Amino acid sequence: MNRFNKLARRREAWLDFQLLSVIASNRYASAAGNLVNSIILAVVFHAVVPAAQGAMALAALALIVGWRLNRLAGFEALEDDAAGLQKLVRAMEFGALALGAWWGGVTAYLMTLASGDQRMFLGVMMAGMMGAGAISFRSLQRAAQFYISACAIGAMAAFIALGSTAALAAFCLTVCYWIVLRVNIITNGRDIIRQFVQQRETEAAAETIKLLLNDFTEQGSDCLFELDAHGRIVNPTEKLAKALERPVQTLDNKLFLDMFDETAERRALAEHLLQGRAFRGLILSLKVAGECRWWSISARIGGGRGLAFRGVITDITAQRHAEEKVSYMAHYDGLTDLPNRFLFSEKLNRAFSRKSGRVGLMYLDLDNFKSINDTLGHPIGDQLLKAAGKRIEQCLTGSEMVARLGGDEFAVLVKAANIGRIEDMANAIVEAMGKPFELNGHNVVVGTSIGIACGPDHGDDAEKLLQNADLALYSAKSQGRNRFAVFEPGMDEAAIARRLLELDLRSSLGNEEMRLHYQSVIDIQSGEVSGYEALIRWEHPERGFVMPDKFIPIAEETGLIVQIGEWVIRQALADLATWDDRLSVAINLSPSQMRSPSLVTTIINALARNDVAPHRVCLEITETVLMQDSEANIETLHKLSGLGLQIALDDFGTGYSSLNYLRSFPFNKIKIDRCFVEDIDTREDCRAIVRSVVGLASSLGMSTTAEGVERQAQFDQLRDEGCGEVQGFLYSKAVPAHELTDLRMPSQSSKAVIAQLEAARQLRAEAGRKNVAALELRDSSVSCAAV
Ligand code: C2E
Ligand code: CA
Ligand code: CA
Repeated sequence: MNRFNKLARRREAWLDFQLLSVIASNRYASAAGNLVNSIILAVVFHAVVPAAQGAMALAALALIVGWRLNRLAGFEALEDDAAGLQKLVRAMEFGALALGAWWGGVTAYLMTLASGDQRMFLGVMMAGMMGAGAISFRSLQRAAQFYISACAIGAMAAFIALGSTAALAAFCLTVCYWIVLRVNIITNGRDIIRQFVQQRETEAAAETIKLLLNDFTEQGSDCLFELDAHGRIVNPTEKLAKALERPVQTLDNKLFLDMFDETAERRALAEHLLQGRAFRGLILSLKVAGECRWWSISARIGGGRGLAFRGVITDITAQRHAEEKVSYMAHYDGLTDLPNRFLFSEKLNRAFSRKSGRVGLMYLDLDNFKSINDTLGHPIGDQLLKAAGKRIEQCLTGSEMVARLGGDEFAVLVKAANIGRIEDMANAIVEAMGKPFELNGHNVVVGTSIGIACGPDHGDDAEKLLQNADLALYSAKSQGRNRFAVFEPGMDEAAIARRLLELDLRSSLGNEEMRLHYQSVIDIQSGEVSGYEALIRWEHPERGFVMPDKFIPIAEETGLIVQIGEWVIRQALADLATWDDRLSVAINLSPSQMRSPSLVTTIINALARNDVAPHRVCLEITETVLMQDSEANIETLHKLSGLGLQIALDDFGTGYSSLNYLRSFPFNKIKIDRCFVEDIDTREDCRAIVRSVVGLASSLGMSTTAEGVERQAQFDQLRDEGCGEVQGFLYSKAVPAHELTDLRMPSQSSKAVIAQLEAARQLRAEAGRKNVAALELRDSSVSCAAV
């Protein structure tokens, strides 16, 4: 059942009202038709029907007609009265039935009395009345059905009563006529309801659109405008006036173009207005109460009533400001408000592309920034950078551009410069920066080093010039800082190479060039791999594999070791999490890493993230760690040890190894340096030292690992001396994690090792005791060089 049928069934008040209004609209025509036809009928049959009967019948009809008119009078008042409307519908249905009954009854009665002509008249009249009634009552289906059915029944009764063939034929025709009319009434009735429903929906939609439009003009940020053929504002809206912050009457007839600033877009607007062409999204600027605003304007042609254009204005000032801010942030440093590296490179490139004379470049780096930042904190560090930026600017003489390239690095671009002028400026900057800065009550002395390169002599593109200025800076620093140096092609090759390596190192982590390799650590007693030492490798796209000896010192010097070291910790623990629980990992820590405040947190986070037991991680430090900031470092070591991590003293015996260091912290392990292991099978003094160290460690409750074991004979000696673990090329070089297998001892079975060890242990215990005493007496330095 479609929704119109449903509606027809469950008619709502508004629909009843609409349907009744159709009935009401033709009530007078219907009344007149009934009365006129009945009078004609009376005239035709006046000779046949007694006057009194005719008068009564006419009076009855007049009564029905009058009653209907009376009921319909003032029905509009019932618009919201559902019950009243229902009642009226019922009354109309009853009225229709009464009218139909009157005409059907009168026809049936007269047909039997009528002559041939009169019957013809009756037939025609009845057909006409049925048709007219079906039309007149069409909106109220039941009323229409009642009416035509009563008429048809009367006519059919008359034809049956006549009984002639023609009458029977007329009967049949009446039946057909009745059926057709009934069907028609049904379909017509549905159409009428559909029409009303659609009309109502259209009205509702129109209402919604009207509301939306009102909302658009009153609430929205956009406003509408209309222009005449001369480009003058017509019917200015309050909203437009408000947007312009001026009275609405001052806008009437004002030239639209006059409002905008003189720009290329305004010229485009003028062109469109002149040629009568529609336009879309023209961005124009204008002043509103002294403030610059941006409008996006679109318009269509016409709109009736003599209008040439109708359009909409969107105020995009906020959007424009946001875009400007984003662009500013992309080009300027948020802290110092100086141009950033991006904008600086752009300007430098542009200076080169102009090919107009020389381009000078100063590359600056604050000398003590890192330590000031570390000791006084970042807020003071930030203030220092701001003040430094300002001080550099004050030393410049013209149109130079100062930029902050990042961290404590600044650069100055000098266009059309001669080297003498640049040197003067550099001198002034070095001098100014050497004076103390007063920051939050702190007197801070920082100093600066400057590298100068001048294009095109020192580089014919921006990249080369930057690189050479950077090398000059490096040279200035290595000459003792707080000075400037001008790039020279003959600058120290090694320094250049080192500087280039440093530059590459800065991007190595970002480029994911670092790799961790692992070297197995073998437990001498069991012959099993007890763990692996993580050794970093740098896989440079051009240099190939760079070994740690080459880059770790640079990383330490530049502070990059902190980031690199944190990466090592995360990677090593992630790898450890995939290994058997009995295996451990050893991680090397540099002195600067030990000073990093984030070291402990990095380790805790990595342990937690990878869910590995802390005792499976051994941190290897060298004595240098204990020599510098020893108290702070020892405190950190205690923290780490407290977390359950193992701490090993690496490279024992090299440098300034002092037994005091062994006393200063309870290491879990001592790693005997390769230089003692190297000749252990040939030199008695090496063997004696190893024996002492093993004995000393054992009496202090520490284990020992011998490094750099390359030959079986070395292994045999170490085993005999009671060393706990060995590491070296004899078993494995450092290999990537995916190449690790559970490496075993090469030739000896564990049992044989244990048996030999047992014999050696007794000897060692004896010798160890003597050596400890000797070493403690001397409290001397055991150094590789001495051996
Ligand atoms: P180390 O901690 O003493 O590491 C042992 C070095 O000796 C490794 O060199 C290793 O490959 C090498 N080696 C091992 N067995 C033998 C052998 O049988 N014969 C010889 N000739 N050499 C052997 P590598 O990997 O070049 O590391 C050098 C140093 O770089 C390391 O010395 C360590 O101090 C440092 N290093 C390595 N990785 C890291 C790291 O991730 N962080 C820090 N801070 N330093 C690291
Ligand atoms: Ca090590
Ligand atoms: Ca070592």
